[in-house]
Amino acid sequence: MNGRRESGAYLLGNHRPDGSREISEFVFYDDIDPAALATGIVTIRQTALPRLWQVCRSRGLGVVADVHVHPHGYSQSDSDQANPVIPRVGHLALILPNSRAGGHCRARSAYTNS
Ligand SMILES: [Zn+2]
Repeated sequence: MNGRRESGAYLLGNHRPDGSREISEFVFYDDIDPAALATGIVTIRQTALPRLWQVCRSRGLGVVADVHVHPHGYSQSDSDQANPVIPRVGHLALILPNSRAGGHCRARSAYTNS
């Protein structure tokens, strides 16, 4: 899509007792939902989430965050707000902007509030 396709991954690991999170592995969105990137914008079907829980169980890990790239800015898009990849309060979503070839990268995080 001319460098304008989004992509991303779930970051798996553990929540520590002190509240910090340790990331030890990742799994791409489209390994969980083969259609996740079909439109060029990340869209995870809720019916695909049991596959994610299965991966977590098999690895003994939880979802501690997710990360996806944006071709332009780092703000949450309308699609991000309408279709969170984990519809759970407190989930940490990282956005890497300017993912087009030659773009620089600056991370921003957003917590799911609803
Ligand atoms: Zn987004």
